[in-house]
Amino acid sequence: MKEYLLLFAINPAQRYISQARKVQDLKMGSFILSYITNKTIEELYKSVSETNVQILFPHKSIQKKPNRFVAKVKVDNPKELGKELEQFAKSKFKEIASYVLKEVTNNCIVKKSNPDTLEKQINTYFYVNWVFHELDNDYYSTYCEIEKLVSSVKVLNMFKPLSEVGRKCKLCGERNIVFYRRTDSEESKGTDYIPKKLYIEELSILDSNSPQRYRFEKGEGLCAVCTVKRFGELYFQKESCFEKENLSTAAIAVMNWLDKISIKEQEEYKSLFDNFDEQLYYEENLSEKYAEKYEYIKSENKDNLEKARNMLRNCYKKHGRPPKYYALLVSDGDDMGHWLSGDFLIDKSQLKAFHENMSQELGRYADDIEKIINKPKGKVIYAGGDDVLAFVNLDYLLDTMPSLRTEFPQFDKLVQVKDDIKSSVSCGVVIAHYKEPLEEVLNWARRMEKEAKQQDGKAAFSIVVLRRSGEIQKITMKWEEDDIKPIEILKELVKELKNDKEGFSDTFIRRLEEEGRKFNQIEEYILKSELTRLLNRSCFETCKSKKRGKVEKWAKNLTNVFRYFANYNKDGFEGFISFLKIANFLAKKVTM
Ligand SMILES: [Zn+2]
Repeated sequence: MKEYLLLFAINPAQRYISQARKVQDLKMGSFILSYITNKTIEELYKSVSETNVQILFPHKSIQKKPNRFVAKVKVDNPKELGKELEQFAKSKFKEIASYVLKEVTNNCIVKKSNPDTLEKQINTYFYVNWVFHELDNDYYSTYCEIEKLVSSVKVLNMFKPLSEVGRKCKLCGERNIVFYRRTDSEESKGTDYIPKKLYIEELSILDSNSPQRYRFEKGEGLCAVCTVKRFGELYFQKESCFEKENLSTAAIAVMNWLDKISIKEQEEYKSLFDNFDEQLYYEENLSEKYAEKYEYIKSENKDNLEKARNMLRNCYKKHGRPPKYYALLVSDGDDMGHWLSGDFLIDKSQLKAFHENMSQELGRYADDIEKIINKPKGKVIYAGGDDVLAFVNLDYLLDTMPSLRTEFPQFDKLVQVKDDIKSSVSCGVVIAHYKEPLEEVLNWARRMEKEAKQQDGKAAFSIVVLRRSGEIQKITMKWEEDDIKPIEILKELVKELKNDKEGFSDTFIRRLEEEGRKFNQIEEYILKSELTRLLNRSCFETCKSKKRGKVEKWAKNLTNVFRYFANYNKDGFEGFISFLKIANFLAKKVTM
C-alpha cells in the first residue's frame, strides 16, 4: 500500500454560512458544514482501517470543524476512495435535506413544490474538491502540490447560478423559492391561494397554524437549500453535538443584563408569551401591533401584554434598561497560506512535524476561544482553527478582543523560522444595533477584517460602529505599535468617560473635532497643548493635584494615539477623532 496526502473540501463554505437573515441561519449553516466534515472523517476511518489514517488538519479536538481537512492515508486505490468520500459527503447533505424538506412539507397547507426543482436545487448546491497525492519522502513538496491542485480545481467550480424565472429566495437571492408563508391579506384569499406576484405556481405554502410557522416571517419565501438551513434543527435535535439554543442579536445584546435577573423571573416573564424572542425585553416592542405581526401573543392572550409591560417596568427599576448594541467579531491568522506551505521555515524537511504541532496548537486555540467567549460574554459561531466568528456582548468586547491575540499560537516557537517572523492574528469588529439587518452586519465584519489585513505586517484590528441614526465611525490599528496598545487606552478612556466624579465629560471630544477641522495639518505640539486645555476643562476631579496629574497623563496618552494616526493611518486626524468617538459611544453603552 502506498501512502498519500489527501485534501478534502466541501464548498461553497463562506458564501453558504454568511447567507443569513437570522443568527440561527448563521449558526445552522456553520453547523451543517461542520457536521458533514465530521461524518466524512468518520467514514474515512471506516473505509480505511484506523491505523492507516492520520488527520493532520483540523485537530481532532476541534468540535466545530471547518469545511476541509487534510489527512495522511495509506490506501491501494486512492481514486476509488476519493469518489466514495465525495459521494458520502454529498449523500449526507441529501439525507439531511430530504428529511427536513419532508418535515416542512408536512407543515404546509398547500403542497405543490415541484419535486424536480427541490432535487435540482439540493443536488447542484454543494460540490466537493479532493486531491490525493502520493507521499514520497518529501512531505514539503507533496503538500505544496496538493495545495496547488486544489486551488486550480476551485477555479473550475466557480459559482454557476441556476436560470429560473420567478421570485428569488430571501436568504440567498440565488434560487427560486419553493416554500412560502403568506401575509395576512394573502391568507384571507382562500386556502389554496398562491400570490401571482411570485411568478411561481409550483409552491408549498406554510400552514399558518402549524407549530413551525414561527420559523418563517409572513411574506418570506425560501429556496430548498435555505429551507434546510432554516429548519435544520428538525433533523439535528436528536444529535448530542447539537446545542439547542435560540440565539438572536437581541439575545447577545441583553446577555450581561439577563445575567442579573434570576432564571425564575425570566421564566415567569417568558411564560406570558406564546412565542418568545429576547426582543421582548425592550419595552418598545411590547405594542399590540408588533406582538401581532411577529405572533408573540395570540389574540386571546392579549391581556398578557399589559402584565408584561408591568413586569418589565419593575425589572428596569431594579436592573436598569437592557443594552441594544452588540458586537460581531471575525478573525483569522495572518499569512496562514505561507505558514502552511512552509514558506517561513528554514528547514523545509521539518514541515510535517511542524504541521502536527501547528494543528494541535490551533485545536487548543479554538478550544480556548470557545471557553472565553461564552455566556454572558457572547457566543462563538465557529472557531475552526485559526479563524473565529463570534458574537460578543458589548460589556465584554474590549476584554475579549486582546485574548484573540494573546491566545493565538506562536508558530515561531514550534520551529525555526526565517528572519524572526512571528505568527499573528487580525480581526474585524462590528458594533451594531440589534435591529440592524444581519446580512449588513456580516458584510461589514468581512470588510473590517479586510481593512485590518491591509495594515503593513498585519497583527491589526478594525472596529466599526453602525449607529441606528446611520452615522458610522471606524478605525483600523495595529494591536501594538511604538509601545502604544490602543485597546488598553480605549478601555481606560471608556472608564474615564463613564466616571462623572473623577473622570472626563465628552465636551473635549466635540471641541477638538470642531477646532481640528479648521486646519489642514495639525502639529503634534499644538494638539498636545490644546488637549491639555480642553481636558482640563472637561475633568470632574476636584482635587487640584490629582486633576493636574490626570490631565497630564491623558494629554500624553491621547497625543500618542494622535501620533499613531498621523504616522500610520491614512485617515490621520479623522481617525484620531473616530477613536475618541468610539470610546465615547462605548462609554454610553457599556454598563460596567
Ligand atoms: Zn436560498
